[in-house]
Amino acid sequence: MTGTVYKSTGSWYTVKTELGHVYECRIKGKFRIKGIKSTNPIAVGDVVDFELETNSDNVSGIIHKIHDRKNYIVRKAVNLSKQTHIIATNLDQVFLMITINNPPTLTSFIDRFLVTAEAYSIKTILLFNKVDTYDDETLMEVKYLAHVYRNIGYECIGISAKTGKNIEKVKALMTGKVSMFSGHSGVGKSTLVNAIEPALDLKTKEISSLHMQGQHTTTFAEMFDTGFGAKIIDTPGIKGFGVVDMDKEEVGDYFPEIFKLKQDCKFNNCLHIQEPKCAVKRALDNDEIAYSRYRSYLQILQGEEEHYRTDNWDS
Ligand code: GDP
Ligand code: ZN
Repeated sequence: MTGTVYKSTGSWYTVKTELGHVYECRIKGKFRIKGIKSTNPIAVGDVVDFELETNSDNVSGIIHKIHDRKNYIVRKAVNLSKQTHIIATNLDQVFLMITINNPPTLTSFIDRFLVTAEAYSIKTILLFNKVDTYDDETLMEVKYLAHVYRNIGYECIGISAKTGKNIEKVKALMTGKVSMFSGHSGVGKSTLVNAIEPALDLKTKEISSLHMQGQHTTTFAEMFDTGFGAKIIDTPGIKGFGVVDMDKEEVGDYFPEIFKLKQDCKFNNCLHIQEPKCAVKRALDNDEIAYSRYRSYLQILQGEEEHYRTDNWDS
């Protein structure tokens, strides 16, 4: 039988078949996946083959195969510096939720997030939430940011999880896909998920009350079905993707506008800093690349710590 992992709590995996039957499964023997040193061999989102096993009156499954992954996201495992923990796999898209003031989401955070998503090959859609609260000035900022990110290929939608504005648009994008919601705490992720699928309210509450009772010391990702053919992966307590290690030469490849220009630079190993005849610097001088994006590029390149300070949005 074949199914998708919806939940994993250590040694047991909750697997759902296409017909909607749910089985608790275990792994027999050791699973090694090429190229990943992870503490967990199987994660939420994995498609697995399993066989049923009947012992006395309960039926459970034994997983014997993991299908190839389209992508996966990881975080560093606690206490084991070299190892990673796979949070989720086979994501179709992630919605990055952004608010301008409450809380502020800085462009440095957005760009770092987008670079990581590009490195993981996960499509990102930007949702500017709480548009119901914006004054003219804030609306101008949202419009400017949406312009910057649309120009380089990211879909941007202004929404209100509270009033329901553009929620149908978000639902339409989610249908038939596996989605994740990310963003700073307080941007409205829970409010949006509840607006999208009120039935999930109960489930998210169940999870958080379990945490409060201290039954789980780790946060586990979980996949939920919705009534409109969309799947949501919830990753409580994880706001981003963790960090991907990348080479300096690689960073520019995850900025679509820089990637597009790099073939026009004089040097093929151009880092677009001080090099002569650099197409990226030229585009920057001509206002064809947003300065905030270039600044984020340099920050990531230099491995700078993120600046959590009030920033100048339109620089
Ligand atoms: P999370 O931490 O990302 O899950 O954020 P929550 O969903 O808990 O929302 C944080 C706060 O923002 C709550 O008080 C929500 O009622 C509020 N909020 C969420 N979305 C909106 C919105 O679209 N408009 C307004 N005015 N408030 C919102
Ligand atoms: Zn260059």
